[in-house]
Amino acid sequence: MEEKRHLTGLTRTELAQLAAELGEPSYRADQLISGIRGRRLRDLEQITDLPKAFRARLSEVAVVEALTVASKYVSQDGTRRYLMENRSGNPIETVFIPTENRDTICFSSQSGCPLKCDFCLTAKLGLLGNLTPGEIVEQIIIVLNDVYGEANETPHGTNLVAMGAGEPFLNFDNLLKAVEILAEEKGLHIVPRRITVSTAGIVPRIRDFAALETRPNLAISLSAPNDELRDRLMPVNRKWNIDELLSAAREFQSSLKRGENFTFEYVLLAGVNDSLESAHELASLLKRHGLQKAKVNLIAHNAADPLPYGPPSVEAVAAFKTELEKEGIPAYVRTPRGRDIFAACGQLAAKKEAAVTTS
Ligand code: SF4
Repeated sequence: MEEKRHLTGLTRTELAQLAAELGEPSYRADQLISGIRGRRLRDLEQITDLPKAFRARLSEVAVVEALTVASKYVSQDGTRRYLMENRSGNPIETVFIPTENRDTICFSSQSGCPLKCDFCLTAKLGLLGNLTPGEIVEQIIIVLNDVYGEANETPHGTNLVAMGAGEPFLNFDNLLKAVEILAEEKGLHIVPRRITVSTAGIVPRIRDFAALETRPNLAISLSAPNDELRDRLMPVNRKWNIDELLSAAREFQSSLKRGENFTFEYVLLAGVNDSLESAHELASLLKRHGLQKAKVNLIAHNAADPLPYGPPSVEAVAAFKTELEKEGIPAYVRTPRGRDIFAACGQLAAKKEAAVTTS
């Protein structure tokens, strides 16, 4: 039997087509958008502005929900980690991070990940599957409903980061379709400028991204100042080395418009890439490529078994930041959130437990 269509991931055009196939006018698409994505209703029966007969016919061929929440973990710092499952039974992880001014949802683009970054637990899962546009959007809806309740406004907007499980640029088309849906004015209305996509360095897609008229902000995970170390930490570097990566980054930087953001991410691993020499080498590298204005976000590694790395000391992080700043590179330290529930960076591995041992 054919799988029912997932309404949450259909664009307005696709919804209007589906309505036409069922003999309905195209404005049904707007009603569906406002019900499913605007008011975040999870059941067609709740969208009572649609005629009853249409709802009945639609439910024979389509569903609103394709994800179930298998478990939820709440950190002492208020961070929430959701372990969801799609219709194929694959795990999908999403993290809600509250802050004083603006909340952030960190969503996944794939179930597992095919890249083998040596400091990341998700890598241990391998690739289980690409997420559909609907599965990407539904993660956000589930989290917003859990935090604020169905049909309620979010109190102070929400930022999205594609930094959960997976390499978003290996699921490029589905990601872009999800971005289009997220931005709908009568839907969730989360515009691209409030979304950041993080890549481990899929160079051809960085160039494609640079050529787009509107797109989310970009973050590139660099995490090493030279090819020798990056080959080891992030094997994707053996395909596209630092020179190729930074030349694509430069192209993206030149395409930036007002209000758009571009950052590098650098995961600090104790005794591996957190020395002052590494900071100095990183600064020289960025300057050599004309990228000295790009911000560098420093992320202290989140230790978790069986990863072979330890977190850097607070002093090492501060010294690394100061060294970059001395060289004129804007550097920021990202505060780790939700470490105790396996929700922090690099820790998403569909773990069915909450407590994490940190050294
Ligand atoms: S850090 Fe990102 S790209 Fe690398 S293995 Fe983990 S999820 Fe994949």
